[in-house]
Amino acid sequence: MPELANLAAQGTLPGILRQLSGLGSCTHPIRLDGHRTEYDLDTATGEIGRILQHLDSTSLPAGQLLVRCNNRRTTRCPACAEVYRRDTFHLITAGLRGGKGTPEQVGTHPRVFATFTAPGFGPVHNRRTDGRPCRCGLHHDQDDDPLGTPLNPDTYDYEAAVLWNAHAGALWQRFSIYLRREVAKRAGLSQRRLRDYARVSFAKVAEYQKRGAVHFHAVIRIDGPEGGNTPPPAWATAELLTDAIETAATKVRVDGPVIDGRTHTFTFGRQLDVRTIRSADFNDGQELTERAVAAYIAKYATKGAETATGALDRPLKFVAELAQLDISDHARQLIRTAWALGARKDLEHLRLRAWAHMLGFRGHFSTKSRRYSTTLGALRNARAEWRRAQAATNEPAPETTYVLAHWVFAGTGLSDAEAWLAASADLAPGTEGEPTRD
Ligand SMILES: [Zn+2]
Ligand SMILES: [Zn+2]
Repeated sequence: MPELANLAAQGTLPGILRQLSGLGSCTHPIRLDGHRTEYDLDTATGEIGRILQHLDSTSLPAGQLLVRCNNRRTTRCPACAEVYRRDTFHLITAGLRGGKGTPEQVGTHPRVFATFTAPGFGPVHNRRTDGRPCRCGLHHDQDDDPLGTPLNPDTYDYEAAVLWNAHAGALWQRFSIYLRREVAKRAGLSQRRLRDYARVSFAKVAEYQKRGAVHFHAVIRIDGPEGGNTPPPAWATAELLTDAIETAATKVRVDGPVIDGRTHTFTFGRQLDVRTIRSADFNDGQELTERAVAAYIAKYATKGAETATGALDRPLKFVAELAQLDISDHARQLIRTAWALGARKDLEHLRLRAWAHMLGFRGHFSTKSRRYSTTLGALRNARAEWRRAQAATNEPAPETTYVLAHWVFAGTGLSDAEAWLAASADLAPGTEGEPTRD
């Protein structure tokens, strides 16, 4: 490899290995051209003093600054998806048992783990728990390809399936309003007065079922009026919360578009599962524990439609690409339907072509209400701080420095030589150090 020989001749090999190891195995880093200068700052006068550090991308071994892509999808970047999974785990855990700035007493508040599904769009191949065969007459294996795909693709309601995904975010949004209303009603309070006594917070993740419909898993918790650090009122029990969730999920509906004379209305499916979360101390192996919930949500946060449905992990540029792709006929038909609906002026706001690869779903993968726990950004900052502290313990505190930086995007990925070096040097993820482990 001539590029490698050149690097060796220039004596820059150890430097480039150091730069690559900073990526923690990210295979599609973002490349930046630019510079960063850190100055001493007199906090009393606000005066900028001497230069403490200067970094110019041209002086770096790779000729550019390389930063992690931070892609959450396992199929796109396994290393960055792993960081995202861990962060999500910590975020969910913090909301269940405290930590990272969330008080420990949230562990004593009523909490449930709920799963919301999409309604049916036509019969699909399935595995029956009663031992009887699927309607097609066969007994399907767990990894059987036809599972979740329509028994009759000609009658499957692809239009409603795609539009449901496109409205799933709005449906959840409205559900969260209905839920607060139902909780208030059970406490004998108006919705407005509820805020003086209790707060309902949640963290949720979207997952694709094999049939290509999005469904939601959520941790829902009741706190006192100031959130996690105030105790909930005595009436706030997991039973009351469960009952309110069931009513709100049954009532909620979102009006959709009228297409060729057909009015679409969106609701959740009848399959609703709500379970109380117990703390680990009370676990006898049967209960749903905090740890299991956090691991479950974190796992699904790194998956898109590609994992369950065999669709795509990136946007489609032309519908003609579909014919060449190695995806299931069911996924192809869902994407084609989204693409066709995307041409309609009255559905412009759904941006169905841009989100065709997500089968119409354009919501966030994992979301949480403000009071649930810490944020992914806060966890990232904490990690950066920790790395900085580890790199140079006598480095000045960030508040006493002034930073001037200018960076421009110069591309993505590694050169062949860099990729070869990164692979052969076995730059394992996490070499930069993680302050916490799950
Ligand atoms: Zn990456
Ligand atoms: Zn079948």
